[in-house]
Amino acid sequence: MAKLVGVTIEGMNMNRMVQYQYWDKETETLPREELEKFQLKLLRESVNRALRTPFYKKRLFQVGITSGDDMKSLQDLQKIPFTTKQDLRDAFPDGMLAVDRREIVRLHASSGTTGTPTTIYFTKKDLERWASYVARCIYGTGCTRDDVFQNMITYGLFTGGLGIHYGAEMVGMLVIPSGPGNTGRQFKMMKDHRTTVVHATPSFLLHLHSKLEEEGYTLSDLALRKAFAGAEPYSEDTRRRIEELWNIDVYNSYGLSEMNGPGVAFECQHKDGMHLWEDGYIAEIINPDTFEPVANGETGELVLTILCREAMPILRYRTRDLTSFYTEPCPCGRTHRRIRRITGRTDDMLIINGVNVFPSQIEEVIMGIKEVGNNYLIQVDKDGALDRLTVKTEVGPNIFMDDARPLNALKERIRHALQTTISINPKVELHEPGALPVSEGKAKRVIDTRPKDV
Ligand code: AMP
Ligand code: ZN
Repeated sequence: MAKLVGVTIEGMNMNRMVQYQYWDKETETLPREELEKFQLKLLRESVNRALRTPFYKKRLFQVGITSGDDMKSLQDLQKIPFTTKQDLRDAFPDGMLAVDRREIVRLHASSGTTGTPTTIYFTKKDLERWASYVARCIYGTGCTRDDVFQNMITYGLFTGGLGIHYGAEMVGMLVIPSGPGNTGRQFKMMKDHRTTVVHATPSFLLHLHSKLEEEGYTLSDLALRKAFAGAEPYSEDTRRRIEELWNIDVYNSYGLSEMNGPGVAFECQHKDGMHLWEDGYIAEIINPDTFEPVANGETGELVLTILCREAMPILRYRTRDLTSFYTEPCPCGRTHRRIRRITGRTDDMLIINGVNVFPSQIEEVIMGIKEVGNNYLIQVDKDGALDRLTVKTEVGPNIFMDDARPLNALKERIRHALQTTISINPKVELHEPGALPVSEGKAKRVIDTRPKDV
């Protein structure tokens, strides 16, 4: 478990001396053999916990698993069927609950789901454990209680805000829960409180920098040293660009609400791949077509099993995220394997300024408005550093395109309905019936012009 005093070890990182710090050195550097033994013990406990839920009881009984003891080795995990986002929705609200409802102290929900949200429940212990993983991540980047941390990510149901917040407090940093947006206020807080570390989406970090001069600041007004960037894919080039613009170190942060949120995998001071905490998760990488494990080091879909969550155990969750394992150990001495930057997803989920959106959600909203015609198009572009969503729809045959007032009112209704559902403010364009392109084969409804530089 987390120790409040970290350990520092000197090492070489990219030819410069670094003081590697560990939040929980014993666990973070546990020899692989012991780590795997520990995983097996926790897996058995997780299976037992899962068997208390109606969903898994049925699923596991179907394949002959009736007790955690059926996991004789880690290989036996493969006997367990995968769990998908749809399973979570179908099991809502109680199907995957392993504790009495009174034990639950918080819930979070994933952005970007249609209809029933994917809701994740936490007991008090689950929250403490989650915070300790995040603290491990943060401390592992070289932060200490001397740092001032401005959390520029959305608070609320999204796990990124509160998730990182509690981990940073556990490290002992001074935490400013600024949330995103309002660039002028962000700079003022950074200056007033001598912020040394921030957490944001990579696109917001680029956007914020573009406003520096306009808001009347220079880098020398600020004390920024580090940033944690995540929630959306970005490339090594983007990282480097943010580092150069701000003159800071940027660390990649990966997580998803089904697996708590942030704190699943994070870069250490070496900044080359994210250590995935294998005492908290069992990670597999599979071929998304055959479901077979890929060869070590090859790219495939990440599948995760959470090992310690009391309220809601989830086994073999298909994240849809594409990545690969590093095959070499990290110079920092941690034994937990590193994953590469997420290069994409196997489904059609879009990530727009860090928010997840499925095209089907947009369709559901616009098709629910009777003045909207039959064809529509979703376009995502880069607008400066930020992503811009444009929804183009045809209008129904009874709408006259030369009457501006009702058209503007309709546009506003569509915009408002979309913003309420997907938490993104889109630009809405209305077109005459038949004006949008019709494809002969499968409808191509999404145009994503953002550079694919990952
Ligand atoms: P949510 O459940 O709303 O937190 O969204 C989780 C999803 O965001 C993940 O499954 C990834 O697709 C994406 N994501 C989170 N962190 C990163 C990251 N560092 N790089 C790329 N994608 C990320
Ligand atoms: Zn490392």
